[in-house]
Amino acid sequence: MSSIIHDLVKLPRQLYWVQERHLLEFLLLLDGRKSVVRIPVCNTDEWKNLKSMCEVHHLRIIGSAKKTVIDFVNALGEEYVSWVDLDDPRDGGQVAYIAHNELQASKAECAERNGDPFSLGKLLGYPDCCVRAYSRMANDGIWLERLLPSPGSGPLPWEANKLAYALYDASLFPDYFPCSLDCPGTTELARQAAISLGRHGLGEVAQRHARLMQAPVAVFPDRVVGLEPEYALTNSLHDLAALAERPTIRLNPDYWVHTAAAKNKPYILTFT
Ligand SMILES: [Zn+2]
Repeated sequence: MSSIIHDLVKLPRQLYWVQERHLLEFLLLLDGRKSVVRIPVCNTDEWKNLKSMCEVHHLRIIGSAKKTVIDFVNALGEEYVSWVDLDDPRDGGQVAYIAHNELQASKAECAERNGDPFSLGKLLGYPDCCVRAYSRMANDGIWLERLLPSPGSGPLPWEANKLAYALYDASLFPDYFPCSLDCPGTTELARQAAISLGRHGLGEVAQRHARLMQAPVAVFPDRVVGLEPEYALTNSLHDLAALAERPTIRLNPDYWVHTAAAKNKPYILTFT
């Protein structure tokens, strides 16, 4: 394992908001698959640690001119934020933009400050279709409901399974909202990330996330339940007691009337 990978795998323990999936973003940066990594930073100690790690490995880092504070948290635990001045008394955090050169990092900071999701999405390596879809979507907290396909839609590519992130914190693509559960750009990005993980000696991480992303999911009128891989073959969806302990996402009640599952016909999504 190279020294930069050795330092990167420690980041989730050192930085409060950083998770294992941020590792993927650094690997995609190192392998030339994206230009900038965007990392939330909690306080000045975290900033110093991240900055010195970047300096050691010849990466450029730029901080946001403002900080984010949490406006509200939706039912999935996702935080929606707004930008305020750095001296605002509320608790918040800066955002770090990390790249191979200062120009790219500064372009990303500028794009986010100016509210330009298309330039920012391109620098972060997000598929255009997903950036377009997200810019149309209001922050109404029902992105997941919009992604759910109808019953009988057939197996989906596991690489673009965003449900696995909400159910298990498992993902092989960066933290954006894919435009669909079979988005080709997202599928390709996850394949590249799995290759990058393997190349850098982290194939076990790729396999662990892939296994969870491949597990089937049951869609009920009011919730989505993550199933064991063999569940669809051996059990009935009406065996509710067996599902009670499984990871579950509650759906937004406003959306129930729009789903086929609302007619009390739960269905299973499979990923291949
Ligand atoms: Zn897309």
